[in-house]
Amino acid sequence: MTTTSDFESMGALVTGGASGIGAAVAAMLLARGARVAVLDRDTAGAPAGALAVEADVTDDDAVREAVDRAAAELGALHTVVSNAGIGSIGTVEDNADDEWTRVLDINVLGMVRTARHALPHLRRAAAARPGAVSITQTCSIAATAGLPQRALYSASKGAVLSLTLAMAADHVREGIRVNCVNPGTADTPWIGRLLGRADDPDAERAALNARQPLGRLVSADEVAAAIVYLASPAAASVTGTALAVDGGMQGLRLRPA
Ligand code: NAD
Repeated sequence: MTTTSDFESMGALVTGGASGIGAAVAAMLLARGARVAVLDRDTAGAPAGALAVEADVTDDDAVREAVDRAAAELGALHTVVSNAGIGSIGTVEDNADDEWTRVLDINVLGMVRTARHALPHLRRAAAARPGAVSITQTCSIAATAGLPQRALYSASKGAVLSLTLAMAADHVREGIRVNCVNPGTADTPWIGRLLGRADDPDAERAALNARQPLGRLVSADEVAAAIVYLASPAAASVTGTALAVDGGMQGLRLRPA
């Protein structure tokens, strides 16, 4: 049974943990008893009580140092939430190679680097507490839905989905579970920035809400709750899974064909 202190004596690292979904995850893990480190390129918004480690996920040495420091200061690393990511808008004709390289470097290689440097620590933790050790990656429904104007972003999240499944297979016998969460449109500062560029942000937000099956965006806390579940000991048998938190956006067909 899940209790409010089910992460007691566990160490957790959250990338992109200073804003939006990552900050909600870090706060929730702290509330459930974990010792938490936030890795972010701008740690100003990291929740109180978390160890803030400034690093950019595009810098392999910086990620290694940050992960090693988090493991040392937290005492051990049981939970990695690989969440740092950026958006990109456009068709394949809109973005040149340098933009593809920039976004894939953050959204895909950032998660590869985080996992690569965390795995030795996770392996040690799993030997002592099998089932309690995991990597959870923030993917997106863009990985499997054909969203317009999101060619590069969708390709990056498609790679995150495949990476999740491959890593789950590689590490299952080591007691390390690997899953991802696929948010729909989540109400975070990211969406705030997007809406801020519209001529009429309020009308744009109303239109965005109207396009959701639930009639509203999902909240950062709702996505965080799914991530925390996948990371928790209650999910000891769950690996290689993509959990959608999208208000029904992908699965539902509200009108008959
Ligand atoms: P956000 O912009 O509020 O937070 C992202 C965090 O990642 C920020 O703190 C930022 O500083 C950090 N970050 C970005 N690039 C980094 C880098 N190179 N190195 C280190 N840190 C970096 O965004 P969010 O909406 O909370 O998004 C979090 C994750 O959720 C992303 O992976 C995103 O793709 C995914 N996601 C978001 C939505 C949505 O609608 N908000 C939907 C699907 C998936």
